[in-house]
Amino acid sequence: MIAKILIVEDEPSLREVVGLYLKRAGYAVTALGDGQAALEWLARETADLVVLDVMLPGVDGLEIARWLRARGDTPVILLTARRAEADRIAGLELGADDYVVKPFSPAELVSRVRAVLRRARPTPAAGREPPLVFAALQIDPATRLVTARGQEKALTAKEFDLLWLLARHPRQVFTREQLLERVWGLAEYIDPSTVTVHVRRLREKIEADPSHPRHLLTVWGVGYKFEA
Ligand code: CA
Repeated sequence: MIAKILIVEDEPSLREVVGLYLKRAGYAVTALGDGQAALEWLARETADLVVLDVMLPGVDGLEIARWLRARGDTPVILLTARRAEADRIAGLELGADDYVVKPFSPAELVSRVRAVLRRARPTPAAGREPPLVFAALQIDPATRLVTARGQEKALTAKEFDLLWLLARHPRQVFTREQLLERVWGLAEYIDPSTVTVHVRRLREKIEADPSHPRHLLTVWGVGYKFEA
């Protein structure tokens, strides 16, 4: 099922670029330029997530967030030009799920959208899948918990997603670009060394000897693979 996203942003070029990126990421996008139009749209339609500019002509973003919160639990990501802590707290108290400070990279916003949607509606496929169990390593997609040699390991969301992707496809070699695309979103906007850094951190967390990894292997000149 394709998630529907409403963008409310009064700056046309920003609205357009954000809409384009979200469409390319596979979402169904409606983009509106003012708060009144957004409220009218929301009264008729439903969105799976709303990206809301805080500063809008007429009805502002915080007001729309409040309106949404009073009517259900549609996830909201606020776009704010103000770094002020008070703004941030007000937004989060209204129940915004996340906020992005302008200027931001569209790819960054896409990955926030993915993360918020994943939290709001855990992937049914992942939830149904049983844990992967290896000799000294367990990976549970339902709870997103990883246990290595009997110890629970705290993984960041991206570390978990990366490990889950690799471990579900044992021995399959992924290039860094493929991993960026599948775990982070749009590969061309993120430095491939991000993958290297995450693999190193994962090894430190799950491998008995991170400098001689047993599970997370480097395939020189190509990328990475998981060995059971
Ligand atoms: Ca604005």
